[in-house]
Amino acid sequence: MARPVVAIVGRPNVGKSTIFNRIIGDRLAIVEDMPGVTRDRLYGVGEWLDHQFSVIDTGGIEIDGEDEILKSVRVQAELAIEESDVIIFMVDGKAGITPNDSEVAELLFRSKKPVVLAVNKIDNIQRQDDIYEFYSLGFGTPFGISGSHGTGLGDLLDEVVQHFPDTKDDEYGEEVIRVALIGRPNVGKSSLVNAILGEERVIVSNVAGTTRDAIDTPFEKDDQKYVIIDTAGMRKRGKVYENTEKYSVMRALKAIERADVVLVLINGEEGIIEQDKHIAGYAHDAGKAAIFVVNKWDIVDKDDKTMQQFTQKIRDHFLFMTYAPIVYLSALTKSRLHKLLPVVNQVAEAHAMRIQTHLLNDVISDAVAINPPPTDKGRRLRINYATQVSVKPPTIVLFVNDPELMHFSYERYLENKIRAAFGFEGTPLRLFTRKKS
Ligand code: GDP
Ligand code: GDP
Repeated sequence: MARPVVAIVGRPNVGKSTIFNRIIGDRLAIVEDMPGVTRDRLYGVGEWLDHQFSVIDTGGIEIDGEDEILKSVRVQAELAIEESDVIIFMVDGKAGITPNDSEVAELLFRSKKPVVLAVNKIDNIQRQDDIYEFYSLGFGTPFGISGSHGTGLGDLLDEVVQHFPDTKDDEYGEEVIRVALIGRPNVGKSSLVNAILGEERVIVSNVAGTTRDAIDTPFEKDDQKYVIIDTAGMRKRGKVYENTEKYSVMRALKAIERADVVLVLINGEEGIIEQDKHIAGYAHDAGKAAIFVVNKWDIVDKDDKTMQQFTQKIRDHFLFMTYAPIVYLSALTKSRLHKLLPVVNQVAEAHAMRIQTHLLNDVISDAVAINPPPTDKGRRLRINYATQVSVKPPTIVLFVNDPELMHFSYERYLENKIRAAFGFEGTPLRLFTRKKS
């Protein structure tokens, strides 16, 4: 299910990054390099109540000047606005309304997206009165917040989640495996899509998905239905976007959100770059099944060790995704292409797998018996009971005497034991601890 996208928009220095960091907490942020622009754009995942959403810190919109850098910053912001479901328009309560705020407001009006107005730097109760002048921006009730103290964020996010689109109706049936291909330009995404479709000769049609501006391609193979989720670079875009190929990260992220299985394409000839890591990390964070697809294997100089060495390289770079299988192929010659869909099926199955509670508890009891949890200040973690609460990704709750006593390394140990017992190849696993004595 696609997660809603929230963009934080406003002129520089109002506190967007500060709030962005508060919203994503200790989750991973993806920094996108924007050449020629004064700052990076950040992506992350936020959570509020039972909602998960993507959040974008757009950088800043400074409209006064018309030099190139500022123009490109504005294009950025416009893109972000277009891609988002809800916009947090941030202003500075200490500074009051500036001409730039009004211009940004104008831009947001035109977007017709839901806008929630956040007045930052309301650091204490005395400042609360400072928010009233912002009514005149025309976005309804301003929410006073303080990035420095973290106050007011709850009310703000309550309002933001109110505007999320209703995600209950799934675009495709449960039985359809939704596949996204991600990777930097020229890695071979379009070629691979064409190879898959050409190979199967079962193109149904290119239908416009129900989600705005996504073009998805459904197909079927051996009685299994799939949909290839549109990703940046896979089709021609309008003029604005031609200049912003670099910024296709946002489209990749949206495709990931909507996918079950993410194919992380790597250029076998060139190896792994930092951006590959960031995007793969996002797939992991979003709880999607993942496969590394090393493409252009036809032009790699190979001997009998090359594949093993490349595999080691991927494992070294993606330490957090050791669960993801690796497929080597050539979209061009179609060599080894037939290996891909069976692996897609396999990881999709693992992603949706449900483990019976008694089997799970057996595995955990055994794991604890072999290697009891370490003590902390004389107290020992006790796991009373475990149960899988959801799928996609498989999510397990451990009821324990005190969640504080669960350490990362022990959680990792349990995860490994669970994987060893049940497989779960290709999917992240989520473990949560809850107090229950
Ligand atoms: P951005 O350019 O909009 O992303 O703004 P930043 O997050 O970088 O913040 C700009 C400046 O405002 C920094 O010096 C922050 O420490 C400061 N700042 C952010 N939030 C608050 C706040 O709630 N109160 C005060 N007093 N300062 C803040
Ligand atoms: P995209 O930007 O990721 O969609 O990449 P394309 O599918 O447009 O491919 C970029 C270039 O790489 C094109 O010239 C393709 O012909 C070439 N290419 C794609 N896959 C392969 C492959 O497996 N082997 C070789 N040798 N070239 C490939």
